Amino acid sequence: MNKSRQCNPSSAELFFRAQSAGRAVELCLNCPLMIDCREAAREGGYHYGVWGGETPEERNAWMAEHHPDPEVREEAAREVERVVRTRERSRVADRNRNARLKQNLLKNPRPASTGQRSGPVVQRDRADQRASQARELLAAGRTPNEVAEELRISRRSLQRYLSRATAA
Ligand code: SF4
Repeated sequence: MNKSRQCNPSSAELFFRAQSAGRAVELCLNCPLMIDCREAAREGGYHYGVWGGETPEERNAWMAEHHPDPEVREEAAREVERVVRTRERSRVADRNRNARLKQNLLKNPRPASTGQRSGPVVQRDRADQRASQARELLAAGRTPNEVAEELRISRRSLQRYLSRATAA
């Protein structure tokens, strides 16, 4: 049986970055050493990185309850709390951003489709507002698709607003 592991020093970064944890877990699931690796990481009290198909959050939660060494248990519990606090902060930031965006949209609503035509100055103002909302969302880390969805415009319109903003 081929006992070669799926990770190596050149892929180490993949196993220690939160954004690539899912990909690292996938590699572990195809690794013949997975069970032994997971046990070793738990016993060794590893607080960081994906090991044996287990994320640091999963392993810390396990270690906080079951590790025989009280120091490792305490450190794991602190890590679990830190992750919870970070997630909560990011949820609050998201909520505030969405509230700000909604306020902007309420202050500058899209025109109702009553068949009324608005003048060129009104249209230009509206385009400027959309462009600034789009820039704010992109700066906050949203993808262009998410921004278009949030502003209820097509990707093409988003592109138009952004090039308008760049040209201005
Ligand atoms: S199970 Fe362990 S040895 Fe295998 S790829 Fe994952 S981290 Fe590497």
